[in-house]
Amino acid sequence: MAARPSISFEFFPPAPGAAEARFWDTVERLAPLGPEFVSITYGAGGTTRERSDRIVRALIDRTRIDRARVAPAGHLTCVGASRAEIDALAHAWAEAGLRRVVALRGDMPGLSVPYAPHPQGYRDAADLVAGLRRIADFDISVGAYPECHPDSADLACDLDNLKRKFDAGAERALTQYFFDAEVYLRFRDRAARAGLRAPIVPGIMPIANFAKLCAFSRRCGASIPTWLAERFAGLDDDPETHAMVAATTASELCRRLLAEGVTAFHFYTLNQAPLCTAVCRMLGATPMLEEAA
Ligand code: FAD
Repeated sequence: MAARPSISFEFFPPAPGAAEARFWDTVERLAPLGPEFVSITYGAGGTTRERSDRIVRALIDRTRIDRARVAPAGHLTCVGASRAEIDALAHAWAEAGLRRVVALRGDMPGLSVPYAPHPQGYRDAADLVAGLRRIADFDISVGAYPECHPDSADLACDLDNLKRKFDAGAERALTQYFFDAEVYLRFRDRAARAGLRAPIVPGIMPIANFAKLCAFSRRCGASIPTWLAERFAGLDDDPETHAMVAATTASELCRRLLAEGVTAFHFYTLNQAPLCTAVCRMLGATPMLEEAA
């Protein structure tokens, strides 16, 4: 029997109220699939950062109660904060029992101006990884960009940057989402040729809403292949068919990657359970038996 792939799920911190209730329901529904960790993104400013902090702490508490059914990972970014502020949060999370962090540079609010580090802040993600290493024995993940980060001159510079993050102490990279398996496979090959040995885990985005995905992808530099646009054409008002096409599309991608030796997958859940559940099941990450009993 094929080995069970390792999976992780990414959530954004919900607003209090109905969205938060839905969030906990989603976590409960995905937990039986046995994720290695679930990560919580870090907001761009005040209120959303407080939400991230609150949800990360609540997940740590639940983990204690539920005997580590889901291990939380807190995302942290460099943007708009001094080193002292970021360090204080990382210390507080470590003291509360957090073991995993996703360390990122972040973007300027609204993405309207080029990135500039805070005058007393961490310069970039590699600098943040080094800082976090001094704080606690965190398991640190970082971002990677199979289609090249928009701020990078070229893929070679981007791979140098990724190498700096690994050299600073990151355990693995989680990639930006992509839709052509070849994009990831070429990137993995180039990383291997550049001597990068740490795992580069593909980020998988099951498409909950194709129209919104197109708008978001323009901003983060992920391309939408023509065949994908054709597949989803005219489905904006047909949610049932849209969901079936989305599950099939993400499953095809994952199975192709699995056939190429990929053993770990990071899912962008958009705080929704059904699509990720379907794709994980198709991938062989079915509910753990003791949970299903
Ligand atoms: P880095 O690796 O530090 O740098 C990326 C690029 O920027 C490189 O090309 C580098 O050369 C260049 N660069 C670095 N420093 C500078 C500088 N000082 N001046 C100019 N260029 C520079 N964003 C959030 O806000 N919150 C999140 O929770 C979050 N989660 C993410 C999770 C994943 C898995 C991924 C892939 C991305 C996530 N992002 C998140 C988005 C991320 O913050 C952006 O993509 C950001 O633009 C780059 O972050 P990084 O850590 O990859 O940057």
